[in-house]
Amino acid sequence: LFAGGADFLKGVVAMDGLPPADRLEVCFAGRSNVGKSTLINALTGRRALARASNTPGRTQEINFFSLAESHYLVDLPGYGFAKAPVATVEKWQRLLKAYLSGRATLRRAFVLIDARHGVKSVDEEILKLLDGAAVTFQAVLTKADKIKAAERDAVLDQVRGALAKHPAAFPEIVLTSSETSQGIDILRAIVADLA
Ligand code: GDP
Repeated sequence: LFAGGADFLKGVVAMDGLPPADRLEVCFAGRSNVGKSTLINALTGRRALARASNTPGRTQEINFFSLAESHYLVDLPGYGFAKAPVATVEKWQRLLKAYLSGRATLRRAFVLIDARHGVKSVDEEILKLLDGAAVTFQAVLTKADKIKAAERDAVLDQVRGALAKHPAAFPEIVLTSSETSQGIDILRAIVADLA
């Protein structure tokens, strides 16, 4: 599924801009700087595909990528950007809620969590939205290369504890590093196995 990379299709700022829901779809969410762009680039094997940019303007866009002409890979706007104006945040929330609740082909959301920090209060909003929309979500820990083996169990416990409060959470947590490629093949296989 990932062999041919991914092609950028479009950036969507309103519901009427969504491509037709005619393919299986997965989306990626996470707070700004969690490593989302880097992970998407690692998954699709192309550099600078998802632009690593944290400008407030771009945070409003839902970016659609085409995978093997059979799937959409969707890059949701990063959240928790400290400088984003309230109106921007509200617009983002409305669009995101509409997208998550109305997308019949959306099979899974991957919520990226920094392995050094675990689930933070800033993540809870998206987790609640996913629960409300009944979109199964899976936690993907990023930057695993930055934690020691001894810290790993503690962060996994913390994330498991946080996920236990969310009915839409998928129990398996994926540990990844775009630096060492840890977990990248596993994540590709998870996406490819969704039906
Ligand atoms: P985004 O805002 O979520 O798209 O985050 P980026 O992909 O732009 O990454 C934010 C920063 O984290 C950049 O400086 C990346 O180089 C760094 N980063 C991303 N993934 C990893 C990783 O797996 N390991 C390490 N050590 N750094 C990473």
